[in-house]
Amino acid sequence: MKFQPVRGTHDLYSYELAKYRCLEEVIRSLAKIYGFNEIITPIFEHTELFKKPLGQHSDIVLKEMYTFKDRNNSSLTLRPEYTTPMIRAAISNSLLEKIPKKFYGIGPMFRRERPQKGRYRQFNQINFEILGSHDVAADVELILLADDILKNLFPNKKILLQLNSLGDNDTLKIYKENLSLYYEKYKNKLSDESRAKIHTNPLRILDSKKPQDLEINNNAPRIYNFYSENAKIKFDNLQTLLKDAPIDFEVNPKLVRGLDYYCHTVFEFKSDDLGTQDTLIGGGRYDGLTKLLGGPDIPGVGWAGGVERIIMLMQNNIKIEKKVYLVLINESFKSYGLRLINLLRKNKIPVFFDYKYNLKKSLSNANHLNSEYAIIIGEDEIKNNTCTIKNLYKNSQKTVAFEQVVKTLS
Ligand code: AMP
Repeated sequence: MKFQPVRGTHDLYSYELAKYRCLEEVIRSLAKIYGFNEIITPIFEHTELFKKPLGQHSDIVLKEMYTFKDRNNSSLTLRPEYTTPMIRAAISNSLLEKIPKKFYGIGPMFRRERPQKGRYRQFNQINFEILGSHDVAADVELILLADDILKNLFPNKKILLQLNSLGDNDTLKIYKENLSLYYEKYKNKLSDESRAKIHTNPLRILDSKKPQDLEINNNAPRIYNFYSENAKIKFDNLQTLLKDAPIDFEVNPKLVRGLDYYCHTVFEFKSDDLGTQDTLIGGGRYDGLTKLLGGPDIPGVGWAGGVERIIMLMQNNIKIEKKVYLVLINESFKSYGLRLINLLRKNKIPVFFDYKYNLKKSLSNANHLNSEYAIIIGEDEIKNNTCTIKNLYKNSQKTVAFEQVVKTLS
């Protein structure tokens, strides 16, 4: 039997992996600059950690969690998102005595969604969270950080920042009631999927992409008509600070995000180059969440970015390391070849050696691996203490003295 990866999972190697590592490097270096500390949490947690905070009626809890019984019958779940485990870790390890705290993490998440381009059942997320501040400056800082990461990776791409406010708990409660009343009037015209959410999760109907829902959504009540004075001021402040930064954004009153724990600021960074799964980064405020998870009553704000989607956009701007392939024409040149690659490696130049001693086979493999250079050692090179360096990208070659190889390739 030939095994295939489980549906919705994929292996990372070669260019995809190089891009993953490159992204990780950008993340880690910017995390340091912005003052965030890494937390690595286990990939499974108690199921209850997710159920209530994410919302009994959220898609994740209803149908996407990988939940299983442990041998002692306790219910465990592969983490579908990182915010709740990160807060759990901060509480479990008493990291919230002095606030605010700024944490980040990178790692795999699991959701049993219908797989498609940019949507997997095991995927990787980057998460940044600030715990313990009501200040909109924290929201702004997180947005600046996301913008910085994306600009670092995609200096020439147009990436759109959409913003909305869900107001405070009262705003959201009244708004949901009004939405339910509104959708009830059109229930026969809505898609089956949206109809099922009229009373359980009406916010999610708003970002439905089903054609029959679009027009109904265009005339749905808008959340800004329900803001409390405090919510309105907060949202105005946020927009002013972003304009001063300056950061371009667009207010989208239909942006709601999928989970129950959000309030006030919500935002998404999107790209036109990704098809339907176009959100690279999404986040917002979750002021009641830490308390709900048994911690102190402190606010929080954060975002999650999809590694696979960011990697998809990285197609052409990944810097691949200069790769060197050693081609020994005869096995008797082994000692010379090993001395040479040792010298290169000690000078941090990566070299691949295939133990084939066959010019044609080695050059073909060097091309297959997309090596930039082949160093060819034949009889003349041994005799003259030289190396022939072939540039496989430009199809040119030159012979240099053994001692000059490092300098030539650096
Ligand atoms: P969410 O936790 O749903 O707000 O998602 C945050 C980000 O993670 C999204 O903007 C995507 O970039 C990414 N993401 C979410 N679900 C998936 C998935 N099933 N496959 C790949 N990326 C995902």
